[in-house]
Amino acid sequence: MSKQKINKLLIGTNNKGKLREIRSLLPKSIKIHSTSEFNLKSPVENGKTFKENSLIKSKYFSKKTGLICLADDSGLEIDFLNKKPGIYSARWGGRRGDFNKAIRRVYRELNKKDKNWKSKKIKARFICVLSISYLNKKIACVMGKVEGYISDKPKGKNGFGYDPIFIPEKKRKTFGEMKPSKKYIMDHRFQAFKKIKKFL
Ligand code: IMP
Repeated sequence: MSKQKINKLLIGTNNKGKLREIRSLLPKSIKIHSTSEFNLKSPVENGKTFKENSLIKSKYFSKKTGLICLADDSGLEIDFLNKKPGIYSARWGGRRGDFNKAIRRVYRELNKKDKNWKSKKIKARFICVLSISYLNKKIACVMGKVEGYISDKPKGKNGFGYDPIFIPEKKRKTFGEMKPSKKYIMDHRFQAFKKIKKFL
């Protein structure tokens, strides 16, 4: 018989898209708290890796609230751009988190690198590192990935962030064109969730 280990959990993100997706993946028996209930700003993400940044967030929000916290750090790696934007994925959207701006930057950088990039397959992947911390102590930390390609133009209005330009492997539609219910069960966050489930 499986034993429920955590019955109350803070989701350490101020990103509404992520909060929605993480909430839908968690068992309904866990009482979910969000950072907006506590009016908390996000911490400075000065880690050098997804893992470091994920732990910075889960520890910070746990210390601020006294609750066990689940946080993620995620982003898009584009091989042709030497894995950029990577941990800077959110920052490419500027201070206001403008995803259109971030997408324009991807196309600008691809054009700078090779005017002919549209004739190539531009390999990319979304990465998600989920961590659970209680105060300053790490309880768990796992990574999930989804491989794919960059679309030659943005397509679809669903999702958030880079969803309109990412086509997962073996599919034709971008994440932005897919129904959220379909995207959620194949993306990087879901892969990481499968691994972290045993701690919940
Ligand atoms: P952070 O993890 O809050 O530092 O931000 C990660 C950034 O990566 C987001 O703001 C998005 O721009 C991007 N990102 C992460 N996950 C996804 C996703 O599922 N779809 C689209 N963009 C994503």
